[in-house]
Amino acid sequence: MAIRETLKRFLIQPLLVLSAACGTAQAQTGEVNIYSYRQPFLIKPVLQVFTQETGIKVNVVYAQKGLVERLENEGRNSRADLVLSADIGPLYEIASKGLTQAVDSETLRNNIPAHYRDPNKHWFGLTSRARIFYASKERVNADEPLRYEDLADPKWRGRICIRSGKHSYNLLLIATMIERYGEAQAQRWLQGVKSNLARKPQGNDRAQVKAVKEGVCDLALVNSYYFGKMITNVQKPEQIGWAKSVNLIFPNQAGTGTHMNISGVALLKHAPNRDNAIRLMEFLSSPIAQYMYAKENFEFPVRPGTSHSSLIGTYIGEFKADKIELWKAAANLSKAAKLVDRVGFDE
Ligand code: FE
Repeated sequence: MAIRETLKRFLIQPLLVLSAACGTAQAQTGEVNIYSYRQPFLIKPVLQVFTQETGIKVNVVYAQKGLVERLENEGRNSRADLVLSADIGPLYEIASKGLTQAVDSETLRNNIPAHYRDPNKHWFGLTSRARIFYASKERVNADEPLRYEDLADPKWRGRICIRSGKHSYNLLLIATMIERYGEAQAQRWLQGVKSNLARKPQGNDRAQVKAVKEGVCDLALVNSYYFGKMITNVQKPEQIGWAKSVNLIFPNQAGTGTHMNISGVALLKHAPNRDNAIRLMEFLSSPIAQYMYAKENFEFPVRPGTSHSSLIGTYIGEFKADKIELWKAAANLSKAAKLVDRVGFDE
């Protein structure tokens, strides 16, 4: 009921809740320190609700890169409890380097589907995002079902835009292809995709949608949440035009489902505030947090049954997501990076 109350208040009187969360009326019962690859504006609202409900203060150190090195240097003197990541790559990396510890939590097990968490309990997915096709409304028939495999078909020669193959978003997709088809077949596929590129891989995800709008290519591989971010971008209204020029195609609906990545969390090995950190992890998997966290960035909650009523939900509705165990795919990430080099994907 507390959760429903908070949700109601958040929906009806967001300003009131946030100002209460910023206030100092609550007794402080401890703190949690986060090293975050996620941008602060995405996590702040949800952390404020956590502090409001528990009295536990949360400190966030944000960095775009270098957090792994920092953790290694700090060793057991580190004050960090949790790492929040916008991609599975860093979670897998810090766990592989022995920088994390297992969390045996029934709440996390119940709230997070098995394919979005580490079987050894060292990392947990919190939101998911689909890597989908943004296809020109003018030049691609959106009713025709498409698969990632089709990107290697010669009928797409010179029509595809994509950012660097080395970017983590693309690496996980390639790593998934390796898991599903083996390295040799994945390499043939990647070579085929390269042959179909309209230009050398460059720019970020949004730049690919701009290129579709400008007629450079007909189809781009882009994360799903960028559609929500672009179509609502009143600061850069040209992006609204880019978004309006495309149909969103969710690949592999008749088969394995659309490829998903996660943002997630891991508990650090030397976490000084372990118990409070676990409370925060569990809170982040709860209905209110899942709703807020996903909505903030137009992502999808991982918790089954959480509302999809983010803006992107109204554009997208239900779709079939790939349920491959992400830890199996992530184990191929370094192979995927080598494959990108071997086929000269970015050259
Ligand atoms: Fe992104």
